[in-house]
Amino acid sequence: KKKLLLTLKGKENITLDGQKILLYANIGNIKDLAAVMQNDAGGIGLFRSEFIYLEQDHYPTEEEQFRIYKQAAETMAGKRVIIRTLDIGADKQCDYFEMEKEENPALGCRAIRICLTRPEIFKTQLRALFRASAYGKIAIMYPMITSVGEVRQIKAIVEEVKASLAEQGIEYGNPEQGIMIETPAAAIISDELAKEVDFFSIGTNDLSQYTLAIDRQNTKLDPFFDPHHPAILRMIQMVVENAHKAGIWAGICGELGADQELTKEFLAMGVDELSVSPGSILPLRKIILETNVAEYKAGKKC
Ligand code: PEP
Ligand code: MG
Repeated sequence: KKKLLLTLKGKENITLDGQKILLYANIGNIKDLAAVMQNDAGGIGLFRSEFIYLEQDHYPTEEEQFRIYKQAAETMAGKRVIIRTLDIGADKQCDYFEMEKEENPALGCRAIRICLTRPEIFKTQLRALFRASAYGKIAIMYPMITSVGEVRQIKAIVEEVKASLAEQGIEYGNPEQGIMIETPAAAIISDELAKEVDFFSIGTNDLSQYTLAIDRQNTKLDPFFDPHHPAILRMIQMVVENAHKAGIWAGICGELGADQELTKEFLAMGVDELSVSPGSILPLRKIILETNVAEYKAGKKC
């Protein structure tokens, strides 16, 4: 079976009736780059930058981060590398951040909320990302967005970072900037958010947690967890439609993106990209190559 999948390497992700979709890889460490190449990913759809913070006992410096992002950009040689800015808090804690203990960490100060309350940490990461963007096709993605105001605050900080790099005569690139849609608020106002950014990536792990009010780490709740809940699927559909209306693309980078029972459904919704663990890329390509989207849609109607 594995051999059969290997014959799919180098093939396009295109359905029988000619619809294309991007298949990207999720990585949590720079060491995963080899697996990304081996499995023929079209790019990296989610580079979780947390490991850089979690594997050290001090705030990673701009230089330390720059080297890692540059290596990812150069290894991928012109393919898109979407790097998500710091998403600690909730399940991922870092001692030297000295965060206050919270009653409800999943609803607490995490991800972009830390970055906006401690802009110096954020600026260091943004400087490293903008500098590394000069060496490949880096895109930056912001997690846990709930409002247009947050996006505007991010943009203001980005402008400051660019101005200071320019003033110092330091080279930087022009990365695409997108947001994760992983809160119900972001999904519902995705029409407005779409006007502010270059792309959306739907984080179904958190979107499901917050929509269904089910702690993603509490396995005791598994009997209540329906990953195919219509509320989630309708939100995905809505987000994709709103993205397209504004002329931007939308992908899925949460676990649901790799769910083979939904691949046809995602194609029918017009999802532009699926970002999954490297091992899921060729199995998904196989399904895509065997799918006729028009037929699938017609079959659903009757
Ligand atoms: C998600 O929430 O779906 C996601 C991709 O991000 P993480 O799993 O890192 O929270
Ligand atoms: Mg998430």
